[in-house]
Amino acid sequence: MRVHQLERSIRQVRNMLLFNVFSLLGKEFIPDPRKAVNIEVTSICNLKCRFCAYQKKVAPKVRMSNEFFAGCVEQAVRMGFKAFHLTPVTGEVFMDGQIFDKLHLLESHPGVESYDFFTNFTLPSHDDINQLMTLKKLSHLTLSVYGHDLESFMAVTQAGENVYGQLVDHLQFLLDNVDRCPWALEIGWRSYHRIPRGLQSEITRLLDQFRGRGIKVRRSQVYNNWGGYVSNEDVKGLDIDINSRPSYKKGACTMLFDSIMIMADGTVNGCPCRDADASLKIGDLHRQPLAEILSSRNQAYTQLIDGQQKGIYPPVCRNCDFYKSIYSYRSSRKHGRPPMSLREFHEVIARDASERG
Ligand code: SF4
Ligand code: SF4
Repeated sequence: MRVHQLERSIRQVRNMLLFNVFSLLGKEFIPDPRKAVNIEVTSICNLKCRFCAYQKKVAPKVRMSNEFFAGCVEQAVRMGFKAFHLTPVTGEVFMDGQIFDKLHLLESHPGVESYDFFTNFTLPSHDDINQLMTLKKLSHLTLSVYGHDLESFMAVTQAGENVYGQLVDHLQFLLDNVDRCPWALEIGWRSYHRIPRGLQSEITRLLDQFRGRGIKVRRSQVYNNWGGYVSNEDVKGLDIDINSRPSYKKGACTMLFDSIMIMADGTVNGCPCRDADASLKIGDLHRQPLAEILSSRNQAYTQLIDGQQKGIYPPVCRNCDFYKSIYSYRSSRKHGRPPMSLREFHEVIARDASERG
């Protein structure tokens, strides 16, 4: 058993104890449900990472129009949301050829405080990177870098040598201009478990230089199973382990409360990160307003939460290893605000229902 697998087994036992204790005490830790909302500007990606559900999803691969995006932002601001996460469930923000129109809309909207997103950074040109440097409300930009050299990049992403060349060029340009970044920059580096000691490639050299400039490079060796979509069979031949064991579950997942996702086709989904085919759909913005979808009047929403509280998990959640329990005080710390109880959450969604009359 590898070290990370052992650590995970220990965490599972700890979680089992903690979740049951807090459940018995009736103590839930629900993060602020009106702090931030996720909007997927596109569900199209230019890479085909072997560990990702992108290739397997059947959900539409589409781009959200600027008009529809503007409507989503307006509705969300009216409900009290001030922060926006633009990272797709699966997709790459720069596959939206009109992404800067959307970013400028957020910049100019008085009700928007901040926004952030992840990118695989293979697509933005030098001009795009220069434009990013002018954005005032972009709070965080996270670059996802896959592989540790040309060979591993191509093996993991199934992209060609030219795409690797673009990534290296874009990283070098950003590094040369990193002092001009007005936003917090972080790099998520995902590659093999074993990287040859002392390896000198374009990627390792650049990442060392970013570290030297004080940029956090977070190496991750944990590969999730995407609610059972991805298994070790999908990464055969790569030095990558997909976690095949679902998380221990007790109570509803916090994603349902504070991380609602408006998908590129207008579907509103309960999970922003591991439900690639939107099986936790709670509404459709083409048919209903957001305030109605996120209110106690929406039975699809309340039944999803009530079901998980009773231990009834839809298949994607049953198999998921990314679950965050409402009985975990850790889940609630991400917004730095006191968490709320389930009763208080229901008061919030009932208020939204009554305000709609
Ligand atoms: S991991 Fe990201 S970049 Fe890779 S295929 Fe999935 S969505 Fe695209
Ligand atoms: S259990 Fe997994 S799939 Fe279900 S809502 Fe939580 S993170 Fe999403």
